[in-house]
Amino acid sequence: MGKLGIHGAVWVGSWSREDCAHAIRSTAEAGYDFIEVPLLDPFTMDVKTTATELERAGIGMTGSLGLDATTNIASEDADAVRRGEELLMTALGVVRDLGGSDLCGVIHSAMMKHMQPLGERARGNSIAVLRRLAEKAEAAGVRIHLEVVNRYESNFLNTGEQAVAVLGEIGSANVKVHLDTYHMNIEEGFVGQAIENCGADLGYFHIGESHRGYLGTGTIDFQAVFRSLERISYDGPIAFESFSSAVVDPKLSSMLGVWRNLWSDSMDLATHARSFIEAHRHAARQHVKPL
Ligand code: MN
Repeated sequence: MGKLGIHGAVWVGSWSREDCAHAIRSTAEAGYDFIEVPLLDPFTMDVKTTATELERAGIGMTGSLGLDATTNIASEDADAVRRGEELLMTALGVVRDLGGSDLCGVIHSAMMKHMQPLGERARGNSIAVLRRLAEKAEAAGVRIHLEVVNRYESNFLNTGEQAVAVLGEIGSANVKVHLDTYHMNIEEGFVGQAIENCGADLGYFHIGESHRGYLGTGTIDFQAVFRSLERISYDGPIAFESFSSAVVDPKLSSMLGVWRNLWSDSMDLATHARSFIEAHRHAARQHVKPL
């Protein structure tokens, strides 16, 4: 069965030694199998402390990040493409060194509001970098997952269908689609169908509510989501993602537009989410037949 994880921003807004320890220990205490570590700045990451804490807590990790304008591999600015590739390769090394096998997120384009559609040259640059990243990742035993996000966060991948097409262009077996219920709720007409259309190409899954707060208090049709995950026999990682102004990551919070306080008790949010996800998966498994 797929492992269940939680994004680090539920616990902390930085990766200082103290915050790293708190996030990893809390993840284990809340009963999750792994923590999704934000790798927005993999260059300064204290890998040794993180590895020690993971081992002590007995949990695994995945890594995620969003590129920005200065590291946008989906651009015509050669310097930005080069910096983005360097960032992605460094993040890949961190995941490998922490014993992880999944690198995901908005690693295909800058995670920001774009004011124009993606051009062909910019698109080609992104695919070329992702091909080289996939090659290195394969050697490191790491899978790459391209997160499909809403129109305000990327001008490249907004639907599962677009991501599946890009997988074909990259042509590497260890590159998969990363879907997120929060974004699908905005861009996909029918979330269940979108999941089923990805099928075996789906490699990573984010569970987030329509306002990114407590699960069950928004408008996402989680019954449909979990039924479709069962129908495609999805057994990859599932990570809970939630953001509130109670936890501020100076870079991530502003990128994602986290201006509201949707919760303040991280542990209550996390344990509630785990029960919610487990209950939905359990129910879906009882009566859904695989396709
Ligand atoms: Mn996400």
